[in-house]
Amino acid sequence: MAAGKSTSQYIKEQNINQIFHIIRNEKAISRVEIAKKMGMSQTSVGRSVAELMEAGYVMEGQNVGSSVGRQRIMLHIVPQKILIIGIYLLRERIDAGLMDGAGNILAQESYEIEEESPVYVVERIKIAIDYMLGRIPDDRLENLVGIGVSVPGTVNYKTGLVMRSPSFHWQDLNLGSLLKACYPYNIIVDNDVKSFAKAQRFLNTIDDPDYFLVVHLGNGIALAEMANGKLSRGENNIAGEIGHIITDPNGILCDCGRRGCLQTRISKGSIEKELGISFQEAVRLYQENDERCFHVLNRMANEIAMWVANFVNLFDPKEIILTGSMLDEWDALFDMIVNGSKRFLWEQVSSGIKIKKPHLKGIENNIVAAASNVFYKFVIKNGKSYYDYSL
Ligand SMILES: [Zn+2]
Repeated sequence: MAAGKSTSQYIKEQNINQIFHIIRNEKAISRVEIAKKMGMSQTSVGRSVAELMEAGYVMEGQNVGSSVGRQRIMLHIVPQKILIIGIYLLRERIDAGLMDGAGNILAQESYEIEEESPVYVVERIKIAIDYMLGRIPDDRLENLVGIGVSVPGTVNYKTGLVMRSPSFHWQDLNLGSLLKACYPYNIIVDNDVKSFAKAQRFLNTIDDPDYFLVVHLGNGIALAEMANGKLSRGENNIAGEIGHIITDPNGILCDCGRRGCLQTRISKGSIEKELGISFQEAVRLYQENDERCFHVLNRMANEIAMWVANFVNLFDPKEIILTGSMLDEWDALFDMIVNGSKRFLWEQVSSGIKIKKPHLKGIENNIVAAASNVFYKFVIKNGKSYYDYSL
């Protein structure tokens, strides 16, 4: 009897969560449409919606319908009922923000990073978290589901252990534990590019959110694959670290300690090393037809296009999202990659594959990515929100 009751309770919770996410994804939807989507009776949907409304997660909006037809009451989520702090680490700065359940950024701030020592960076992260906590009124603190942290490098997302971050020269830094010791909230640390993939699902910008690839072009380069609705992580969460694929055994020394990694040829960092100027300055000179910058940046864009085509052979994704600071700082790069990749892709694949820009740019993109670490496993149980570690 008890087992039967808990099973039905479990199914009820699953339905409530599924309905919540449908309303969130659709932005406005009626009970009838939800029932159709889920193959459930309108009575069951009505009951779950009533629970979500009572707990404050969902509200009724405007009636929609023709004057002769039946009026439908549209449902929306209550964005402010869910708050998440996102902390995104780049080599040179921390992007921090407070996001609500609809993906609105309620506060944002960036903090320069002047040293790579763990003690210094952890202190900067705490300053960022404290600032964001200060933006939440006391009576809304209970709506804070958790703090998502994105780090470049290999991260054990279950424990928050940063196993290796070549950008910061960190090894075995238990960032999750250090932060959990200071804050009584869920703290989820994950790799930065995998966070971007989670954000694409959260933002609902993908045709098929179960199958896509995110290619990140920033200080380094990396990718994240979503397959069957799950992130491909491998044994050590290293899957996707393509920036450290060795392409020349005698090549340039990489941050990771090896020689000839891909990102020593194609990344913001490699361009800055090669030209001895900032990437932004290189782009500016490129636009003024400076011969050297023109040659180096063209070579890089062409090689990225070739690697994007190689990734299609490796993963066969339906959609590829290109993201990262290189694209933010050099507008023409996206089209150069899309057009260039056609040269390398098999013709029958080339026409079907969609290469897209992310929905958001720069700091906002980073904050939503970091916050999505928490939202990825967000559930509602007994009228309260949780980060579900069991998922
Ligand atoms: Zn490397």
